[in-house]
Amino acid sequence: MSAQTLDTGQLVRALRSVLPISEGVLGLHEPTFRGREWDYLKECLDTGWVSSVGAFVDRFEEQLAEVTGVRRAVACVNGTAALHAALTLCGVARDDEVLVPTLTFVATANAVAYLGAVPHFVDSEERTLGVDPLRLSEYLADVAEVRGGICANRRTGRRIRAVVPVHVLGHPVDLDPLVELCARYDLPIVEDATESLGSTYKGRPTGGFGRLGVLSFNGNKIITTGGGGAILTDDEELGRAAKHLTTTAKLPHPFAFVHDRVGFNYRLPNLNAALGCAQLEQLPGFVDEKRALATRYAEALRGVRGVTFFSEPTFARSNYWLCAILLDEQEAHARDRVLEATGQAGLQTRPLWTPMHRLPMYRDCPRMDLSVAEGLEQRVINLPSSVWLSASR
Ligand SMILES: *Cc1c(COP(=O)(O)O)cnc(C)c1O
Repeated sequence: MSAQTLDTGQLVRALRSVLPISEGVLGLHEPTFRGREWDYLKECLDTGWVSSVGAFVDRFEEQLAEVTGVRRAVACVNGTAALHAALTLCGVARDDEVLVPTLTFVATANAVAYLGAVPHFVDSEERTLGVDPLRLSEYLADVAEVRGGICANRRTGRRIRAVVPVHVLGHPVDLDPLVELCARYDLPIVEDATESLGSTYKGRPTGGFGRLGVLSFNGNKIITTGGGGAILTDDEELGRAAKHLTTTAKLPHPFAFVHDRVGFNYRLPNLNAALGCAQLEQLPGFVDEKRALATRYAEALRGVRGVTFFSEPTFARSNYWLCAILLDEQEAHARDRVLEATGQAGLQTRPLWTPMHRLPMYRDCPRMDLSVAEGLEQRVINLPSSVWLSASR
């Protein structure tokens, strides 16, 4: 191949022009604490309510339900646990298949595998980085059939139990056609909204479009509880079941320990929920600041050859959890060179995840053609995206 058109020096200068001067490395996503975090944490310590129940847990759940527009939110110890519980509540069982994107964080596929079920990998679209409803529709027409409310994979004979779309980097997938498609195949949606708290699809918050939705409050997410997650649902009964399942399935009783199923201890401690309450109060401001950072990146990168800033799909207002650039197709080979050059310039940058179907434990799982995801994995690079980066210049 001939001359490289992508000039990493030009790219680094453009990125640097947006970011504050700093001595050390600008991380990919560092937490921001400038609300009532200290007050609420102190309250936990002063009152002794630090563990698995407490007023902050209840308050956090109520606030989460309000912010995401669902009837019920159940706080969990992390997002992976929330996914595991949500899939359990959808009836996912041994030898079922669950449709998940190959381009996701490993937790999405792991939660399926924890149940003895099989992740069945689907491709992504360049517009959203997430599930492509049109291509999925064509694929299901080929491999799936519904009989008596049961969707089966004709090739493997296994039941397909659910679909888990992921709003990658905070950008909502095209939900309307996906919801319609899943209704046609009697497939419940578990929305992996772990990266998209604060994002909306056609004006409605993500997380509330499926039978269940899942959030994460890990240290690198848009708000953090240290570690944490939540299950969302608009179905009151399912909400009660989610609380029950994630709190050891104990029947209410003044003193007896009676449990009516194999439950999980997936409770979020009050201490973490306190942090969550303080963080959630700042969410609208965080989203605004991240969107402002995204706008500045987009402008600065406009003249840089070989790359485009990844912008939200037209139907969405994204939280821009992680800002990203997309290398032109003919520049895909330059990815690692860009990662090295930006790293040397004190900017932490990261590629997307290795697609799930290339990981050893998922190599033999069923899948559709995954060429778009494969291409995106070669071309997407995440940029420093902390909230404070926008405020400090
Ligand atoms: C963060 C994340 C999770 C898991 O959340 P944890 O709280 O880290 O367990 C799941 N799926 C995706 C896509 C994520 O980004």
